[in-house]
Amino acid sequence: MSYDVNNIFARILRQEIPCNKVFEDDKVLAFHDVHPKAPIHILIIPKGAYINFHDFHQHAEPETIIHLYKKVADIAEQFNLQQSGYRLITNCGVDGGQEVPHYHIHLVGGDKLGTAVGK
Ligand code: AMP
Repeated sequence: MSYDVNNIFARILRQEIPCNKVFEDDKVLAFHDVHPKAPIHILIIPKGAYINFHDFHQHAEPETIIHLYKKVADIAEQFNLQQSGYRLITNCGVDGGQEVPHYHIHLVGGDKLGTAVGK
């Protein structure tokens, strides 16, 4: 499977369509999910063309991977979630239920969440 350059997050990265941005640097973009499942629901993506979790971890440079996760923690603090807690979700591939084929992490919080593992 090759990276689809016209997936919706690639188009957001090219600024062809807007997003409700919460953070950006040279390697990472974070924005509010358009259909939030909780009071806070942010999507955090690398700027590189990675299809999913597997592709990112197999092909990105280690410092790129570390940088992304540091930013996830920073953004959780930006929204003051470090004490109350939060959930990180990454859907990978067809069986994982991934809809947008550009690697992304869902940062979800702001309320007590239900169970989320399994069918
Ligand atoms: P996933 O099923 O893990 O691929 O999640 C894709 C997420 O992207 C869903 O939660 C959608 O609500 C969200 N989404 C789709 N299009 C947009 C968009 N244009 N801006 C923000 N979030 C989006």
